[in-house]
Amino acid sequence: MHIEALIRDVTARLESVSDSPRLDAEILLGRAIDMPRSYLFAHPEDQPDPAAVERLEQTVLRRLAGEPMAYITGVKEFWSMELAVTPATLVPRPETEILVERALEAISRKAEFDVLDLGTGSGAVALAIAKERRLSRVTAVDLCPHAVRVAEHNARANDLDNVTCLVGAWTAPVSDRAFDVVVSNPPYVAEGDPALDALAAEPRSALVAGADGLDAIRRLAEVCLGVTRPGGWIVLEHGADQADAVARELSTRGWTSIDLRRDYAGLPRVTAAQKPALDAEVC
Ligand code: GLN
Repeated sequence: MHIEALIRDVTARLESVSDSPRLDAEILLGRAIDMPRSYLFAHPEDQPDPAAVERLEQTVLRRLAGEPMAYITGVKEFWSMELAVTPATLVPRPETEILVERALEAISRKAEFDVLDLGTGSGAVALAIAKERRLSRVTAVDLCPHAVRVAEHNARANDLDNVTCLVGAWTAPVSDRAFDVVVSNPPYVAEGDPALDALAAEPRSALVAGADGLDAIRRLAEVCLGVTRPGGWIVLEHGADQADAVARELSTRGWTSIDLRRDYAGLPRVTAAQKPALDAEVC
């Protein structure tokens, strides 16, 4: 079969699993013949050799089984950076750029801020912040050592030397330090949420947080108080139906100035809150 026919054939097969079947087909075929996508348009009549067609078939089967394109290609674009991703890391989502934007509002361009990213995964959020705020020192933490290696690789590959990656549970590896801004895209999907079926290829530990999806956020609201400077901020991504609950979890623990942001679809998805500048308690 020639290139154009292969693209048509694969596109039709991917329609049931992908929102962008033709694009996926082109990317997979380009990889199978080890050529850029532009080659496909210039040479629609080329006949790839049987080994290339077999390589294409193997990746099409993975896609049909529900694997995200990012795991098959090993990369995902986020904040204009090409990031390595593996099945140990969540695939960065476009909505998470809202989390980055809100965090950046709290980080001066002209001062050396200490920023902490908890549950960094591929490092997407930490690296985007480090890229936009070169004077800041960004510490990225993840429980999964493999994810931390991916984040370190991505920091190096994007020439970001203001990021330090650490393995550990939430704030445990930085419990003796203080930060101006703590940011997190934690797991926030409820156990048993039917949406999980479509996310089966991604790490459950990065997605699921207890019966109501709020276990990780409750923990963060608690432990981040201990590593945030007075006047500093916490910035959290959450589910569209969790904004009120997140605000409650934060305010009952003493966080103030609760500020909610919506994603591109108009859904409330990011909440920021401030640690009071002065301790209200009197000794
Ligand atoms: N945004 C992801 C989704 O619902 C969930 C990510 C997360 O739990 N942090 O597809």
